[in-house]
Amino acid sequence: MSKKAFVIGHPIAHSRSPLIHGTWLKTYGIDGSYEAIDVAPEALPKFFDRLRAGEFVGGNVTIPLKEPVFALCDTIDPLARSIGAANTLVARDGKISGSNTDYLGFLGNLDQNAPGWSDGLGSAIVLGAGGAARAVLVALAARGINTIHVLNRTAEKAIGLSDEIEGPLQGHGLEDFARLAPEAMLLVNTTSIGMHGSAFPNLPLNLLQKSALVTDIVYTPLETPLLAQARALGLATVDGLGMLLHQAVPGFAAWFGVTPEVTPALRAAVERTLGH
Ligand code: NAP
Repeated sequence: MSKKAFVIGHPIAHSRSPLIHGTWLKTYGIDGSYEAIDVAPEALPKFFDRLRAGEFVGGNVTIPLKEPVFALCDTIDPLARSIGAANTLVARDGKISGSNTDYLGFLGNLDQNAPGWSDGLGSAIVLGAGGAARAVLVALAARGINTIHVLNRTAEKAIGLSDEIEGPLQGHGLEDFARLAPEAMLLVNTTSIGMHGSAFPNLPLNLLQKSALVTDIVYTPLETPLLAQARALGLATVDGLGMLLHQAVPGFAAWFGVTPEVTPALRAAVERTLGH
C-alpha cells in the first residue's frame, strides 16, 4: 500500500517540506506521498485520530503545533522534551512517537559543510534564546563542546535557558560579545536578526579568531548580513539552508525506510523557491 506522510501547521502554504520529501520520493522511486495539511490547534486531536487509525506513516509538525503535539503523543523522545518542541511524528501500530530533528539538522549541516568543525572546539557563542536556540544548544552540548555562551537581547532569557538545558552553558546579554569573542571558535546566530536583510547594529566580528566558523540558521536571505560580514573578514561561514534540509532526513528514513541524501541538486531545488 502506498505510504502517506504529511507536514501539519497553521498556516502551512509556505512550507518547503513537500518539495524536499517529494524530491526524495521521486529520487528513490518510492510509492508514497507527502502533503501539506493545514491543521488549526483545536483540530489537532481529530487529526491524531486519523494518524492512530493508520491513514499516515507519520509526518512533520510546524508552527504553532510543535508544543501542542506533546500532550497527544504516546512517547516523546527525551531530547525533544529538553528542546520543548517536537517536529517529527512516527505512527506505528496505532502508537505515535514524537521527536525533534532540528538539532540533528543543525549538526548535519555543519558536518557536511565544515567537516571536523567540532574537533577540540573549546568555546562557542550562540546568539538568541528562543525556540531555535534550544535545539542548537542541545546539539552543541551533545557534541561535547567545552563552553557554550548563550547571548541574548533579553539576558534573563539566556540565563534561564542555560540553567534549564543540561550542558556547559552560560547565559549573558549581547553586550558581552566583545569580551567572549576572542576565545570563541564558533559563532551561531539563532535570532531572527538577518531575516529580510536585517543586521545586528554593533557586533565586532573582527574580535573572533581568524580560524573561527560563523553560521546563521536564518536562510532568507541565504547570505545574511552577519555571514557577509564574516566572509569579508576572511572567516569560514555556513548558511542555514542545510539545517532545513538535514532536519528532514530522520523523518523520511523512519516513514519510507530509506535514508535520503542531501545533495547539491536538492539544495538547488529548494534554493530556487527562496524569496518567493
Ligand atoms: P523566537 O523563538 O521568536 O526567538 C527569536 C529570538 O530572536 C530571541 O532570542 C529574540 O530575543 C531574538 N530577537 C528578535 N528580534 C531581535 C532584535 N531586534 N535584536 C536582538 N535580538 C532579537 O524564534 P525562533 O523560533 O527561535 O526562530 C529564530 C530564527 O531561526 C527564525 O528566523 C527562523 O526562521 C530560524 N530557524 C531556522 C531553522 C532552519 O532550519 N534553518 C530552523 C528553525 C528556525 P529576545 O528574547 O530578547 O526577544
